[in-house]
Amino acid sequence: MADNVGNADARPDLDLEAELGQDDGTLTEQEIAEAEAPCGGVGIGIPLSGAAGGHPAGVPGGHPAGVPGGPGGHPAGVPGGPGGHPAGVDRQRHGGARSVGFRPGGGEAAQAYEARTGIKPPRIIAWEITRSCNLSCAHCRAAAEFGAYAGELSLDQIKATIDDIVTITNPIFILTGGEPLMRPDIWEIVDYCHDKGAMPVIGTNATLITDEIAAQMAAHRIPRISVSIDFPTAEEHDSFRGEPGCFEQTVEGIRIAKRHGVGVQVNMTVTKLNADKVEAVHDLAESLGVDAFHIFMLVPTGRGSDLLEQELPPEEYEAVLEWAYERQKTSPLHFKPTDAPHYYRIIRQKAKAEGKKVTREEYGLDAMTRGCLGGITFCFISHVGDLQPCGYFDMQLGNVKEKPFSEIWTESNVFNDLRDYSLLKGKCGACEYKAVCGGCRARALEITGDYLEAEPYCIYEPPGWTGECADAPAEGGRTNG
Ligand code: SF4
Ligand code: SF4
Repeated sequence: MADNVGNADARPDLDLEAELGQDDGTLTEQEIAEAEAPCGGVGIGIPLSGAAGGHPAGVPGGHPAGVPGGPGGHPAGVPGGPGGHPAGVDRQRHGGARSVGFRPGGGEAAQAYEARTGIKPPRIIAWEITRSCNLSCAHCRAAAEFGAYAGELSLDQIKATIDDIVTITNPIFILTGGEPLMRPDIWEIVDYCHDKGAMPVIGTNATLITDEIAAQMAAHRIPRISVSIDFPTAEEHDSFRGEPGCFEQTVEGIRIAKRHGVGVQVNMTVTKLNADKVEAVHDLAESLGVDAFHIFMLVPTGRGSDLLEQELPPEEYEAVLEWAYERQKTSPLHFKPTDAPHYYRIIRQKAKAEGKKVTREEYGLDAMTRGCLGGITFCFISHVGDLQPCGYFDMQLGNVKEKPFSEIWTESNVFNDLRDYSLLKGKCGACEYKAVCGGCRARALEITGDYLEAEPYCIYEPPGWTGECADAPAEGGRTNG
């Protein structure tokens, strides 16, 4: 199992950023104001499914099968850190070794780069350092190879790429796979990240975590790992993964990591198969004493395209995000809906309905970040060195073996398009929330062929928008693409 199911394992960075307590810096005050100002009655009256505000009732679930292995990750935002989401904040756990004072994308090189180019440096880089995996989940094409894949970046190539990256930023590196612990040089990579002023975290399936491995994680200053659990029982999880015993190994790996002081984030990719089990998986995660619970909305592109039929219809998708908003108020875990940029619209709509403003003081970093950060402050490097806005954005913008990362980040027309929100088309272009949401560019690309087109899985209709959303998916799936 390449346990980056969905994008899930690829995001142990999120709460880490929150713990570090920095501004994402993605939104300007003006952008926040624009999202706040016009979201009156129109925005709040969105046509939710019957489960508005509650658990995603009525969502079908309970099938076996799998969720995709989309490498990399969603940049989605930075979670509510100190202050976090309303209410649940004080009760949220903090886990793992901290790295006080580390500010991704805030170092001297990053500041100099932004001043020189006017472009934000990457703050989070998901790096598929291998596609090899110890498991072979039925749904994951990256799995079941035990040696290096052809063309996989060597240790020297990885070090050279890090050397280049740190000339423009000091990011969080999400080391993912495949199963990153399968790389024999994993600790050398981790140490090199630290030595160069970056922060490595690991996305893992956790089945390889022994006391010895967890001790190494702690010794090599891994502040947090992320682990996917998509079902609350061994029977369902193992069936889903196609790996008998996998659930128990994963749960035990989490317990061991926690015993060694390594923070753990449980990720759940939500599909039709398990949307009615979100609460149960949350409760399992809470019972394991983890630090965060991140739901990931399936993005059926690239390696995940086989799972297209499992994607929630947009209305149910919205209901899950509403559940997250409400449940966060009482959960001790930090939530971060991911691959779901409209969550940042929903925050503002719900806050407005509650008579609140989405301020840093009340909502923490949720107030300061943006839904889709692909190409903006986040990107993905594949196992062979291809650079993408995120793991689901099925377009390679250059290869670090041929061109320095820093040049691709600076010069790619696609990256630069993604940074210019005025280029968004369709209802996203007309939307007052485009600065805080932006829609999923990977879905737009997959379904329309144009990464600047409207997000197909958003039910919101901006005021005054009269255009047809021709590519909006029908119930249970997309209409084209
Ligand atoms: S229309 Fe686009 S920008 Fe507006 S909330 Fe929906 S996905 Fe986000
Ligand atoms: S394009 Fe979609 S999957 Fe990629 S970072 Fe943006 S919201 Fe996430």
